[in-house]
Amino acid sequence: MTQEKGLLLVLSGPSGVGKGTVCSALRPFMKDLVYSVSATTRTPRAGEKEGVNYFFKSHKEFERMIQQDELLEWAEYVGNFYGTPRKFVEDTLNAGKDVILEIEVQGALQVKEKFPEGIFIFLAPPDLKELRTRITGRGTESEETIHRRMQMAKAELDLMEHYNYVVVNDEVHKACDRIQAILVAEHLKKERQIAKYRHWIEEVNI
Ligand code: 5GP
Repeated sequence: MTQEKGLLLVLSGPSGVGKGTVCSALRPFMKDLVYSVSATTRTPRAGEKEGVNYFFKSHKEFERMIQQDELLEWAEYVGNFYGTPRKFVEDTLNAGKDVILEIEVQGALQVKEKFPEGIFIFLAPPDLKELRTRITGRGTESEETIHRRMQMAKAELDLMEHYNYVVVNDEVHKACDRIQAILVAEHLKKERQIAKYRHWIEEVNI
């Protein structure tokens, strides 16, 4: 029987929603899930390790990776480049293991083009009132700044439409439970179970 491919989970959502925190919290209790380590041109923060948090690259090296089609997706985010090394993801999926990407929204849309069968999870802010308060600040922001931030938040929330699931990040452990539930349900889908049973039924008929 051919090896069944793993599932590709893409965890994305607006900036500041807590993607990184949720993804780190998932690690200890979803041990079979493989985390894709991204390449970036940003400088390492204190405590970050090469090959663990990111593969830290020069601009030139990142350019080369783009040219040689080594990235499944890439995006510029506040002045730095971020991208997902393609080969690792493909090899891991082909080996039957599930992979999770934690990436910003432009990158997630690119992955959707290439891997429409992926499972796209939009991590959403818990409270729109709170979001509005954060955007309007303490009344010190100019009309223009507020307008610009509102437009940005709206554009980011609009992207929800392209995803399969919306997980509210009200509490990190709850968000993790919801993501785990999604993965379990996706594995139980008929389409992913049926081949195994067909094989068995065919053997019985012989
Ligand atoms: P940070 O610099 O705080 O680690 O990450 C900044 C943003 O880049 C976060 O929203 C994170 O999800 C996103 N990011 C991290 N790796 C990748 C990647 O490989 N591709 C894309 N498109 N975004 C990424």
